[in-house]
This record gives sequence, structure tokens and C-alpha cells, in this order.
Amino acid sequence: MNRPYNFSAGPAAMPEEVLQQAAAEMLNWQGTGMGVMEMSHRGKAFMSIIAAAEADLRELLAVPEHFRILLMQGGGLAENAIVPLNLSRGGAVDFVVTGGWSQKSFKEARKYAMPQVVASNEADGHTTLPAPAAWQLRQEAQYVHLCSNETIHGIEVHELPDLRALGSEAPLVIDFSSHVASRSVDWSRVGLAFGGAQKNLGPAGLTLVVVREDLLGHALAICPSAFDYKTVAENGSMYNTPPTYAIYMAGLTFQWLKRQREGALSGVAAMEQRNTAKAELLYGFIDQSQLYLNKVAPNCRSRMNVPFFLRDESRNDAFLAGAQARGLLQLKGHKSVGGMRASLYNALPLAGVQALVDYMRDFEQTQA
Ligand SMILES: *Cc1c(COP(=O)(O)O)cnc(C)c1O
Repeated sequence: MNRPYNFSAGPAAMPEEVLQQAAAEMLNWQGTGMGVMEMSHRGKAFMSIIAAAEADLRELLAVPEHFRILLMQGGGLAENAIVPLNLSRGGAVDFVVTGGWSQKSFKEARKYAMPQVVASNEADGHTTLPAPAAWQLRQEAQYVHLCSNETIHGIEVHELPDLRALGSEAPLVIDFSSHVASRSVDWSRVGLAFGGAQKNLGPAGLTLVVVREDLLGHALAICPSAFDYKTVAENGSMYNTPPTYAIYMAGLTFQWLKRQREGALSGVAAMEQRNTAKAELLYGFIDQSQLYLNKVAPNCRSRMNVPFFLRDESRNDAFLAGAQARGLLQLKGHKSVGGMRASLYNALPLAGVQALVDYMRDFEQTQA
């Protein structure tokens, strides 16, 4: 039986092989007589699971030695507070606001730091990417916040800015929640990257932080100990009980990612090629159609989240009902934007995008 294609923005589809392996191991993980949810996080079995997950992730994302990988809880929204608590020293922080998520991050940072918006695309309804050369970066900024993929507005930063070339010594902090592991990361341009797992890595409950070592140890006195990056790092992400089952599921996903191939490419490079093909197929169809519309400037369109509209919005419900009937799930757009949104995360194959495009074409023809 084929499962339907799931276009959810998150929590999102997971690779079927991963779900099947988790099901097979649910009652008895590798002969231990226990399911992973039932194990002590300090026992030998779970210690091997978390060590493998971290090593696989380091390999997949090519994380350099001088970065630490932290497996935390709280999600992207908690990081909106945890990052300023750890990095701002209560001082100036520069924010690039490109959509709903960076806007939220900016508002939360006000509680702990003195953030300022140094570039924004609000005037054009979050459809363009302000050119880095025009960002009003400040010398005194402790870091620069950028959401590298705006999940709601469908804007992706295809090339991370080189802040040093722009005259700033501040580390770049990226929220890569919704495109982590969909493409490579240029770590030479990043100080810290954070993301919730539930878009592209695994189930909700796990939060990934990749942080350059020199940024540890500067937390404000009010920072909760469990959220002090230095404490988390020194305890191997085990200061408090980590989200053990979510880590296990993400670990299975990392193994799945390592097995993926596109020609000579493997892992994240293979995913990048596949994701590019998926996005080109969908945007290419939308752009030639008379019914559908994507408003984002072509140079910053997200490969992961494609918001689109029907020019005749009275057809929205019929479109969604027809999609559901064809096994194309969760296409409704975010409430703040409306319309539709197709999220094309790693677990969604090219065939899923082809099925969506076939449906969209048929639906458009019935409207003519
Ligand atoms: C989903 C998402 C978040 C929020 O994650 P939570 O786990 O709900 O806190 C933050 N940033 C981006 C870019 C996201 O896509």
C-alpha cells in the first residue's frame, strides 16, 4: 500500500524506512529487551544511540571540529530566548527581518538584549531578500540574526552572507529549522545555527544547536542552567534528560540520509540535488500556469516551502478537497499568509512533487 504524499510544514513527513525500523524496534531495541523510550539516558544502549546520532550529523553537515553539536529541548521558539541569553551579553544585536520567524525572534530578543532591525522586507510583504550590502550592520552588535529559510513566507537565503566582507566582526546566527540537511552549510560564515527537528530531521521535541566553541561561556546570569550552552556542551547534551526518543528517530533519519544517492553524490549533497529538482519542477509549473501564483522573488525562493495562491480564491476549498482525495495531504497555507503551501522536505520524493503538479494541472483544466 502506498502512503499518501504529505506536504506538511512541520511536524512533517518522515522517511517510510525510518518509521518502519522504529516500529520493528519499538518493543525490543537490538536485543536489549527494552524499547528506546524505556531506557535510561545514561545507560550503555542509549549512550551508543546519541553518540552515533551526533557523529552521523557531524559527518552529514560537515561540521568542523571547533563547533559543538548540542541536542536540546524547547524548539526554535525557545532558542529565540536562549540565543540572546547566551550570546548578547545584554547588548546590541542586529536583526535581519525577512518573514514571520525572524520577526518573532526579534520580538523575543527584546526581553534580554537590545536588538535592532538592520534590514527588512516588510514593505514588500516579505517577498524579497534585502541585499546584504545594504544591511545597516553595527560595530557594537554581539551577533547578527538571520532566518536562513522563512518557512511561512517561503524565502530562502541561498548564499549565506560573509559578514567580515561587509565590515562586521559579529558572528552570524542562523535559524535553519526548516532547511537543515536539505543543502550544505558554509560554516566559515556561521557562528551558531539552531533548528527544531520536526521539519527535516525527525519528530518534534529535539532542538539542534551547532555553535562555535569560542561563543560558549558568555551566558547572562539569569540564563537557566539547562539552557546555558556551555553547561549543555560540557555535559554532552545530558545535563538534563535529553529527548531520548526524538534523538533516536533523528539518528535513524541521519542513517537514511547517509544512504541516499543521486548519481555520484550521497548524503546532503544528494539531497541538495534532489531538492533543487523538486523545487524547479513545482515553481516551473506555477510560473507558466494561469491559475496559480507564487509571489516570492526568484532569487530567494525557498526549495523547502513553496507558498502559492489560486488567482480565484473562491476555489481554495475545492482545491484542497480534491488534493486530499488524491492522497496529497496538508497543503493549506499558513493562516497569516493564506492560500496554499507545499513543503518539500527531504522525506518527500520527486514523485510526490510530480503527483502534486499533475493534480494542479488537472484542477486548472477543470476550471477553464
Ligand atoms: C518551525 C520553526 C520555528 C519554531 O519551532 P518550534 O519548534 O515550534 O518552536 C522556528 N523557526 C523556523 C524557521 C521554523 O520553521
